[in-house]
Amino acid sequence: MRNSGHHFLQIPGPSAVPERILGAISKQTIDHRGPEFAKVGQRALSGLKTIFKTKEHVFIYPASGTGAWEAALVNVLSPGDRVLMYETGHFSTLWKKIADKLGLKAEFLQGDWRGGADPDQIETFLSEDKTHEIKAVCVVHNETSTGSVSPIAAVRKAIDRANHPALFMVDTISGLASLEYEHDEWGVDVTVSGSQKGLMLPPGLSFNAVSKKAMAANKIARLQRSYWDWADMIGPNEKGYFPYTPNTNLLYGLNEAIDMLHEEGLQNVFARHARHGTATRAAVRFWGLEVLCSKQGQESGVLTAVLMPEDCSADAFRALTLERFNISLGNGLSKIADKVFRIGHLGDFNDLMLVATLAGVEMGLKKSNVPHSSGGVGIAMDRLNK
Ligand SMILES: *Cc1c(COP(=O)(O)O)cnc(C)c1O
Repeated sequence: MRNSGHHFLQIPGPSAVPERILGAISKQTIDHRGPEFAKVGQRALSGLKTIFKTKEHVFIYPASGTGAWEAALVNVLSPGDRVLMYETGHFSTLWKKIADKLGLKAEFLQGDWRGGADPDQIETFLSEDKTHEIKAVCVVHNETSTGSVSPIAAVRKAIDRANHPALFMVDTISGLASLEYEHDEWGVDVTVSGSQKGLMLPPGLSFNAVSKKAMAANKIARLQRSYWDWADMIGPNEKGYFPYTPNTNLLYGLNEAIDMLHEEGLQNVFARHARHGTATRAAVRFWGLEVLCSKQGQESGVLTAVLMPEDCSADAFRALTLERFNISLGNGLSKIADKVFRIGHLGDFNDLMLVATLAGVEMGLKKSNVPHSSGGVGIAMDRLNK
């Protein structure tokens, strides 16, 4: 049966693609070696720098975020290198699995999936590594499985306090263009991101923003790489081209997205996400449910993960809201499967869309007989009206 009206895609990525971007993507594909393409490529490569806040190079892959994760590792590391990773949740765990598969020795600082990376723990670990065997520190900025944000600038300071030369790598696949991010200012060596979250694009593009130190590491890194090699990309990129066929239509969309972000103003985009996060948490707490992120100040403006009361299935609740209200909510991943649902409030989004989203959640809680206090939507509305 046809579902009338708007589908609410409120998972924390892919986020709904705005009409303007869909329009840009729908233009005819062109010769990626022709003169017209160079303008598209150059605009994308230079435009991305304004989003990552970097003067250094940003590489673009026709791949999902997972590809850019692998690219970050294989471009700067050698077989058997030790890397320090922080367990913020499901996505940091997946990144670690890639490191393991590539033959790196990845060490995990354990976390409880309820907050961001702890700079003090990282500092202590690095201080004990007197012989500098750790070659890289990898942290997820916005942990999409839990709705927690890691303090990236503070982790940089922790690495510096330990006086450690390890490269600093950050996954901001779901944080970029939604949360404040400063590749250069925060001293990140490799930033990994993707297209389908804050950038409001469909899946299929991913990025590595790369410091001079990381470019130098690329020259001596011995992990096997071909498709991902920065060294093969940098030459063609100088003229706006790529060594193999790029995702031309998504690049049209990327250029449109960058324009849209600057038209709104990046600071306004960040403030909007923060405000929607605050209003969502107010509603959740009023319902009497728990926000998964328990560290104050680390709650994400991108999404809110909500703990279901004991004995209530988050997946049954999500199935009901989809069926009854045409809204897709995010599921709990791996060890929090069925215990958590996630409300995405990222990308091309506004107050009324949030109110409708929260209304869908509240009506769903009622229909699913999940114990809660009704009226959370009103609380969120009051927040938004302040
Ligand atoms: C979505 C996401 C990924 C994975 O990206 P894919 O595009 O699914 O490969 C990795 N890390 C984080 C934090 C994400 O949100």
